[in-house]
Amino acid sequence: MTARGIRGRLLSFLREPRGAGDSESYRYVNDGLVVVKDGRIEAAGAASELLSTLPADAPIEHYPDALIMPGFIDPHIHYPQTQVIASYGAQLLEWLEKFTFVEEQKFADPGHAARNAEFFLDELARNGTTTACAYCSAHPASAEALFAAAHRRNAGMIAGTAIMNRNGPPGLLEPAREAIAASRDLIRRWHGTGRQRYAVTPRFAITSTGEQLAEAGALLVEFPTVLMQTHLDENKNEIETVKRLFPDEPSYTAVYGRFGLLGPRSLLGHCIHLDDDEVALLRETGSVAVFCPTSNLFIGSGLFNYKRLASAGVRIALATDVGGGTSYSMLRTAAEAYKVMQLQGQNLPALLAFDLITRGNAAAVGLAGEIGVITPGAYADLVVLDARSTPAMAHRMEITRDLEEELFVLMTMGDDRAVRQTYIAGKPALAA
Ligand SMILES: [Zn+2]
Repeated sequence: MTARGIRGRLLSFLREPRGAGDSESYRYVNDGLVVVKDGRIEAAGAASELLSTLPADAPIEHYPDALIMPGFIDPHIHYPQTQVIASYGAQLLEWLEKFTFVEEQKFADPGHAARNAEFFLDELARNGTTTACAYCSAHPASAEALFAAAHRRNAGMIAGTAIMNRNGPPGLLEPAREAIAASRDLIRRWHGTGRQRYAVTPRFAITSTGEQLAEAGALLVEFPTVLMQTHLDENKNEIETVKRLFPDEPSYTAVYGRFGLLGPRSLLGHCIHLDDDEVALLRETGSVAVFCPTSNLFIGSGLFNYKRLASAGVRIALATDVGGGTSYSMLRTAAEAYKVMQLQGQNLPALLAFDLITRGNAAAVGLAGEIGVITPGAYADLVVLDARSTPAMAHRMEITRDLEEELFVLMTMGDDRAVRQTYIAGKPALAA
């Protein structure tokens, strides 16, 4: 495959910013060039130095005013919930029963799963998201459909079929009876096939018996590079129910710990109502707390305490959680994260937000250096962002003084319209 050049203003993070103004935390090149070969970044730097290294016939896409960043990474999203998003008037347990379980049962039909998988991947690309950690339905065919569609696009997805064997409708519990065996089959078929990776996915403690959670934990031992994703401490009724179902465990987090589900490969959605012992357990095990602000506000679950977890040394990622979440856009998600933190007297500097949704989330899903950065060797998964994509943004940008302020405008006012192009393994994903 021949090389390709993508030219514009390059921004990529080197480490977590220590606060606003931390200009050592990123690399910015005002007129930069990304040289792409065979889906990966061959070189990135000043256009003046790199243009001459490209073959004469290499195509160059030039975005003079736009910011070229690593593609966004969404570490918690539900692909069978593309038609659950915007479901009115319920909190978690009622919302699951009334809307989510109903829609997820439709994924028994492979045709329905395939159609939704294509929509889901299109929508991610429209929003500049190049990797997601997706929950599938309880039907193995739903994971199969998503992996097959992502593999055809050479998009790096992480997914797993939902494991559950109680407290759900028969339509979901029946296919899930063989959930562990089905997960093992899917891991063998898809984990490491092209760019696809598997996440063992017990939905949450309420929908699995201890026996099934233990079997899920055993899968993590059997396959030492697969991830684990589940939900934790989202809603107070949920926590009460978990206490009733697992009376011998001191906390909800301890339930997952007991069954071998905590560790550096574990992504725990929400983590809102943690007690101090639970925070300590997350830190000790290196587990990741996944902050899902639009979902937490929409379902009325509560406010994620970023500062408390960060100062305790807990790893944190930032995600949409569509369909409880209300937007596929990581920009909208960063905006709501900012507001959730403001309500608690905390700040989210734009630098930290953009680091989180690129380099930070890549590290959270175990893909540091592979994605989330513009560095030689990494996949050429990129997003091209335009901070003047609406009249209101262009008007606001007239008085913007620096890069950090531009980023704050992008995250506060931006959405899919701010995405000019998305590259997946070096190929444009959106019609020009
Ligand atoms: Zn979720």
